[in-house]
Amino acid sequence: MLRSINPFDQSVVGEFQPMDASTVQKKLDTAGKAYQSWKRTTFIERATLMQKAAVLLRANKEEYARTITLEMGKVIGEARAEIEKSAGACEFFANNAEKFLADQIIATDARRSLVSHHPTGAILAVMPWNFPFWQVIRFAAPALMAGNVGLLKHASTVSKCSLLLEKVFREAGFPDGVFQSLLIDNKVIESVLESDVVQGVALTGSEFAGSQVAAIAGKHIKRTVLELGGSDPFIVLADADLEKTAKIATQSRMQNAGQSCISAKRFIVVEQVKEEFLSRFAENIKALRQGDPFDGNISMGPVARVDLAESLEKQLNASVKLGARLVTGGQRQQANVQPILLDNVKPGIPAFDEETFGPLAAVITARTEEEAVQLANASRYGLGASIWTKDIERGERLAREVESGSVFINALMKSDQRLPFGGIKKSGYGRELSEAGIKEFVNVKTISIA
Ligand code: NAP
Repeated sequence: MLRSINPFDQSVVGEFQPMDASTVQKKLDTAGKAYQSWKRTTFIERATLMQKAAVLLRANKEEYARTITLEMGKVIGEARAEIEKSAGACEFFANNAEKFLADQIIATDARRSLVSHHPTGAILAVMPWNFPFWQVIRFAAPALMAGNVGLLKHASTVSKCSLLLEKVFREAGFPDGVFQSLLIDNKVIESVLESDVVQGVALTGSEFAGSQVAAIAGKHIKRTVLELGGSDPFIVLADADLEKTAKIATQSRMQNAGQSCISAKRFIVVEQVKEEFLSRFAENIKALRQGDPFDGNISMGPVARVDLAESLEKQLNASVKLGARLVTGGQRQQANVQPILLDNVKPGIPAFDEETFGPLAAVITARTEEEAVQLANASRYGLGASIWTKDIERGERLAREVESGSVFINALMKSDQRLPFGGIKKSGYGRELSEAGIKEFVNVKTISIA
């Protein structure tokens, strides 16, 4: 049974029978049939429907936001913002897909050589619960605009969101089978990926899930894009504006109760300003108001599941045992975790070496800016990063040395549909969003005329 549980009070929100093998096969057949006609539609036809999806997302924002908050516990204001951001991505790809996928004429010895872009089939999206609408839309908007069809295997705790997403596309007028939700156990993924209808898989989730699904995709020669975990560094140099830096540090680490792949997790501060940064950061963290995520006055709800809170607690205890100093937080009641600040974190301590997917901030001291960059790169992950300095040139120079898919200077690291998004090392490969994202699942075809 797929179960949705309200993480704030552990009440059951919904139970869903997983689809059996014959239902999944019917969905695959429907996707295959839908693809044959969808791939022949024009960009204008697709864009009209995608714009309609944006309108529906905004029109039903309250219902969708409430469902997000009920199923995974983020504060209602953040859930509304997620729906708004999702609508924006639908509009962006509706407006830009044709330009991104236009033919490219290349000068060669031939009379005419060009590159054209074509859809490839059904793409499976294996998605996480932490941004249950945004993660799916950032996959679906470019995939559908490119002429592919989508199959969604959402996290097993957000089935209501999964069904609502299917409804958005259906009500927007997308033909039957262009976007379908599969309520399935993750063990069934192989049976979906081995179908010839499916030509690729986009997975956003943990390193473990990514490696499992990519191994299956490799066996069946299916293309993959993996958006996995992160342990993003937040580098504070001596000339940073500490008030702003500590404010954004708190926002970056604690929004969505710390459950964002690109939230800053390791705060690497040069020693001249470490004490001042730490005290401002601690003050901001202590001021966060925790409680019922439906209460518009609170800043942080629970984490999404009790077992996730327990894992974070284990990482906290192991880190303290190995020498980290607990500055504030750490109390826990079921999935409600008091935001945690650790000082004296170093390589070899779980809060440095592992992804901490919850409200835990780790402060690390660097002697110099060179050491700060070395520490930033001493991670198995490489998703996002930020650098805080008044010297923009220095910031840009250091940004080029940081091993990650994105670096933001003096700003909150966030995804933006106009910019490529993705990671390196164990954070995965491939890109989502922007022109780079829409090209991941298309056939880049060379045509050459002698
Ligand atoms: P997760 O446990 O890996 O689940 C993600 C998806 O993978 C779910 O649909 C899940 O299905 C499926 N899955 C899990 N184990 C699987 C397996 N062995 N084989 C096949 N599928 C499997 O991750 P999560 O806890 O939902 O999300 C948190 C993780 O996602 C964090 O590591 C975070 O950093 C990462 N994330 C990355 C990005 C990014 O853009 N890079 C964005 C958001 C989150 P079930 O629910 O049915 O198990």
